[in-house]
Amino acid sequence: MCGIVAYAGGRSALDVVLAGLRRLEHLGYDSAGVAVLVDGGLAAAKKSGTFEDVRRELSERPLPAGTTGIGHTRLATHGPPSDENAHPHLDDSGRVAVVQNGDIDDFAGLRAQLAARGHEMASSTDTEAAAHLLAEHFSSCYDLAEAMRQVCRQLTGTFALAAVHADEPEVVVGACRGLPLLVGLGDGEVFLASDAAAFPPHVRDVADVGADQVVTLHRDGVWITDFEGVPGDVRTYRVDGDGDAEMDGASDPYGHGGAGAPTAGIGDGTGGGSR
Ligand code: GLU
Repeated sequence: MCGIVAYAGGRSALDVVLAGLRRLEHLGYDSAGVAVLVDGGLAAAKKSGTFEDVRRELSERPLPAGTTGIGHTRLATHGPPSDENAHPHLDDSGRVAVVQNGDIDDFAGLRAQLAARGHEMASSTDTEAAAHLLAEHFSSCYDLAEAMRQVCRQLTGTFALAAVHADEPEVVVGACRGLPLLVGLGDGEVFLASDAAAFPPHVRDVADVGADQVVTLHRDGVWITDFEGVPGDVRTYRVDGDGDAEMDGASDPYGHGGAGAPTAGIGDGTGGGSR
């Protein structure tokens, strides 16, 4: 298991995500990568090796600027370290990007079923199966959070996931089962990470994504449901800037309302229309 960082806000997602991944570097990794939503599409860069390899790739082939993105540092479990196996993983159309910590147990069977349905695999990872499944479900529900819930109901294993879709250019969706995933709340910006140490020091309000929950992040709000779609509370607590909790359980049953005020629908999975 290694690192997930994601961002939705007003700043360069690439800069924010790379800085967050750097803060998780001490956990060790064999590959790293990022994906940002840009101009109705999605752009990604990933390399096995170190951040310097990713930076070199980004200087040779810069990504267009975008304000929503995801990133990952990988410690390989399914498939050896390689550029192809580095995260993010994309679907066939290149409109979905997924990063994952942990293991999806049934990945070989899922990959075989996907291949039988005509999907072309670009890696040997478990994560890529989730990317193709997410794209399949999205193509019938047109709702990334709902597609993620459907995927998670299909998966067994211990995992944390983060995903973006080019058709929802300001949204990040995360999900976890048995591994940590945290939301960091800023002013008009939201962060998702597998460790609070990834958040920039000014992020003081943090919420845990619970077991078997799906979280939807938009710069104006955060919504949580379980895998069945039952809404859950976004319970925030303060951290001291180093990612350490100051006051455990200081509960704030709304999500993040942009200006700080509760907004209709925020905090449960039913608000915000498609969220
Ligand atoms: N199982 C995934 C892979 O091998 C994720 C490993 C990790 O947690 O970094 O790509």
